[in-house]
Amino acid sequence: MGTPAHVLEHTFGFDAFRGAQQEIIDAVVAGDDALVLMPTGGGKSLCYQIPALVRPGTAIVISPLIALMMDQVEGLQQLGVKARALNSSMSGADQWAIEAAFRAGELDLLYLAPERLLQERTLRLLGEGPIALFAIDEAHCVSQWGHDFRPEYLQLATLAERFGDVPRIALTATADAPTRREIRARLNLEGAREFVASFDRPNITYRIAERRNGRQQLWQFLSSEHEGDAGIVYCLSRRAVDETAAWLAAQGVAALPYHAGLSAEERNANQARFVKEEGQVIVATIAFGMGIDKPNVRFVAHLDLPSSLEAYYQETGRAGRDGLPATAWMVYGLADVIRRRQMMDGSEAPEERKRIERRKLDDLLGFCELTSCRRRALLRYFGEEMDTDCGNCDTCLWPPTTVDATEPARMALSAIYRTGQQFGVGHVVDVLRGKSTDKVRRWCHDELAVFGLGEPTAEAEWRSFFRQLIARGLVDVDVDGYGALRLNDRCRPVLRGEESLELRRFEKAKKRARRSSGGSVGLESIDDQALFDALREKRLALAQEQGVPPYVIFHDATLREIAVTRPRDEAAFGEISGVGDKKLARYAEAFLEVIDSWDAAPAAGVIE
Ligand code: ADP
Ligand code: ZN
Repeated sequence: MGTPAHVLEHTFGFDAFRGAQQEIIDAVVAGDDALVLMPTGGGKSLCYQIPALVRPGTAIVISPLIALMMDQVEGLQQLGVKARALNSSMSGADQWAIEAAFRAGELDLLYLAPERLLQERTLRLLGEGPIALFAIDEAHCVSQWGHDFRPEYLQLATLAERFGDVPRIALTATADAPTRREIRARLNLEGAREFVASFDRPNITYRIAERRNGRQQLWQFLSSEHEGDAGIVYCLSRRAVDETAAWLAAQGVAALPYHAGLSAEERNANQARFVKEEGQVIVATIAFGMGIDKPNVRFVAHLDLPSSLEAYYQETGRAGRDGLPATAWMVYGLADVIRRRQMMDGSEAPEERKRIERRKLDDLLGFCELTSCRRRALLRYFGEEMDTDCGNCDTCLWPPTTVDATEPARMALSAIYRTGQQFGVGHVVDVLRGKSTDKVRRWCHDELAVFGLGEPTAEAEWRSFFRQLIARGLVDVDVDGYGALRLNDRCRPVLRGEESLELRRFEKAKKRARRSSGGSVGLESIDDQALFDALREKRLALAQEQGVPPYVIFHDATLREIAVTRPRDEAAFGEISGVGDKKLARYAEAFLEVIDSWDAAPAAGVIE
């Protein structure tokens, strides 16, 4: 089969390894065990797929989700690689044929779910054929503390005993140290070499704004920056999912709902459309995403706050796996903070766990209210230091202004105190603004010294201040259902005037200009973008003929390069990244035709 570099070029059509790929591949090819920690989209698959092709025998890939497995097998077959998956949904004859091919040493890769692998019958089969390596994908599933725990993963330790001389490579996008230790211990990988990549996702732009009218804001964002793009919109409740999906659909966005309350058929159908069609938007609860490998998700939008920074990183990480520009967009408000705190306090979890969750929520709130680079803060949270600001998050792109809010903060704190620490934000703001509501009169709050003291400041601005005070932990929200505000020890220095306070200045909603004139995959010229769209149409037609997702034919990055470089013949087409020998033979003609007819046509519709 040749060297790793040869396989990279001829089978995968790429001209250089990324990051630590080469080192990892060399180690596995040499027969070492490896533990690989790389973010989503970092390029983990090649780390075992290339050794699978270089080493003699079949690579056994253990993957927790059948849908993902089928996707990968499909993609490999398109490259001319002999990859198969064994699962119980296949006919007996098919399974038998695959087993026979394995015994004969005819397969490059064999994908298995852990429960299938651990059946005695399968283990015996593996003893009868040559094995190149074991790859354990999503290795964090072995962690009992993680959200994706799969008990069968624990038994994978037996591989070390039964197949001691076969190298094993475990891969995950979950990087924290405890999980890493757990993976080593439980999978018997103490001696494995460890490869930790940076967890930065430079192509994702992080943006967080105050929620005013969430749906309108979302619509504004989608229509001005991501028209026709595939993306995910996360909401907290099923009802919000249904309503948002229906609302978007009414605005002409191809949006479908996804949550645990839908029938399995409807869920599967909506997921399949997301995977197989171009430009599909899914509105979902967090149940959606795990097990979806779609590389060209151009945005992930949160209409509600996630539970922690880990969750935020994981959910936003589903955008831009292909490395092209993508947006992580979120709006959030005071109501989220209260709802999240209520959910936590109302849960049955032990006190210790609740304490940790509360702290995680506080970390996330702090992140939302940041006035400095978000990427730096996000990476620091995961233990990585950046030397400079990123230039690709909202606080870098449009630096927020801060104001000395010591005075308004003192007013707010004293209004909370004077009204007896038993009212929510709405009422306290009414008192500050001197609004004589029934409630204000009933409690005689119009007689307080703070009544009307903050009248010149708009209500929305007051709410923004309160949210920041809560996010910074100066004020507690009572989560008994009414959201009463309470002072705590941390606000004392401010109240006494011993400490000043800088807060983000409240800014009126403003329209943001698109950052580049081109489309969302970063094409600068309108003509290139139009050609990209035409290539995308051709890709969809080819995909539908074969019943496969469009991205297994070519990734967006490949189409983008075709649109920009416009190859005229096969030789030039073969130079494009992502075009290996097989795909050159199979698809060059179809795509070259699109370019030909493009050149022939007058540049109609091109607005200069
Ligand atoms: P992960 O499994 O880590 O999320 P993948 O293995 O799916 O990531 O790779 C992410 C994307 O990067 C895929 O589109 C893949 O084809 C591409 N890719 C991986 N390695 C390279 C490389 N060396 N050169 C170009 N593209 C690459
Ligand atoms: Zn930044």
